[in-house]
Amino acid sequence: MARKIIDMHQHLGSEADFEPLTTAYAETDIVKVVLLGIQCRRWPGNNELVLSAAQRVPELYVPFVGFDLDACGVDDLVRYRDDGFRGVKFIGPDQPYNHPDYMPVYEKACELGLPVLFHLGIVANKPSWSDVNSNNMRPIYLDHIARGLPELTVIGAHLGNPWYEEATMGCRWNANLFYDLSGSTLKKKGPQFLGDLLWWSPESKPYTSPDGTCAWEKIIFGSDVAPALVADVISDYERLMDGLDLSPKLREDVWYGTGARILGLGEG
Ligand SMILES: [Zn+2]
Repeated sequence: MARKIIDMHQHLGSEADFEPLTTAYAETDIVKVVLLGIQCRRWPGNNELVLSAAQRVPELYVPFVGFDLDACGVDDLVRYRDDGFRGVKFIGPDQPYNHPDYMPVYEKACELGLPVLFHLGIVANKPSWSDVNSNNMRPIYLDHIARGLPELTVIGAHLGNPWYEEATMGCRWNANLFYDLSGSTLKKKGPQFLGDLLWWSPESKPYTSPDGTCAWEKIIFGSDVAPALVADVISDYERLMDGLDLSPKLREDVWYGTGARILGLGEG
């Protein structure tokens, strides 16, 4: 059986990128792609572009709305859901992610059954991001959010780069917290480093996670790169999982199974 992959972290920068991106995915094992919109304040028109792409190729693209935690509220979230968005992306807040002002939005996402993906850690220093305080996006805040809302599915991007220790301990203790490894992490860190951080399994008694899972059941595939580089990220994940000698079952979880459960796709 051919391998299936879900890419849980991708962007669409412009309409001109739509065809190259869609064509590039057709040449890989990737069968679903989460397109993460960026809020209007940072990237005008991007949410509309992402939704349009998902409407044109619904069998491939899953649209997540870029949500402005400092300008929008629960009514906006309901409207986005009604528009067709299937999840939520957060980045660049003015306050730490676990600020009480933001909690009603997370509670509403939970009620609506929308998974939420947080950019974590440092962010690229580009002109429209020059005011961003990366400290507001520390992974430890997701521990607070995930434990307060155990029914909410929470995804942290980039394994919290560079705050890996916070990220990994957070998902050990919260069954509803997951991470992708997109970004520069797999270029600078090898299997030993990541294996040391993602170490627990049902056999590691009494130091197991409360839900009895392996650490690698909390890791999902995400690329976050231009079309021509997606295959390179797949190779990086392969090299990592080969280096750790992960079981076929855990590899399938990383490539597809865990993402499918998050998106409600079933085992397929
Ligand atoms: Zn991204």
